[in-house]
Amino acid sequence: MRPCPEPDSAVSSGPCTVDGCDGQVVAVGLCCKHYKRLRRHGDTGVTLRRHRQPHQCRHCGSRDPSHFYPGYRGICKGCQKRQSILRRSAISV
Ligand SMILES: [Zn+2]
Ligand SMILES: [Zn+2]
Repeated sequence: MRPCPEPDSAVSSGPCTVDGCDGQVVAVGLCCKHYKRLRRHGDTGVTLRRHRQPHQCRHCGSRDPSHFYPGYRGICKGCQKRQSILRRSAISV
């Protein structure tokens, strides 16, 4: 196993950007372990820490994950159903 690159304090500092990893950054925002994984596999094998919008219905404001279909479209199951009924009745009128 090749050694990790020397941490370059000029370009990298702080903890690894991989979720749940607090290793010291050596390059491109990644710690030694994840940097090597990136070099070998082309990715870190885990999702990078990103600001992810939590599911929230734009109609009723529900944040319960169980209220959403896997194909989340900014709207909960209940409101989606209600909308499709409205749309259907709008067409028939
Ligand atoms: Zn890491
Ligand atoms: Zn809703």
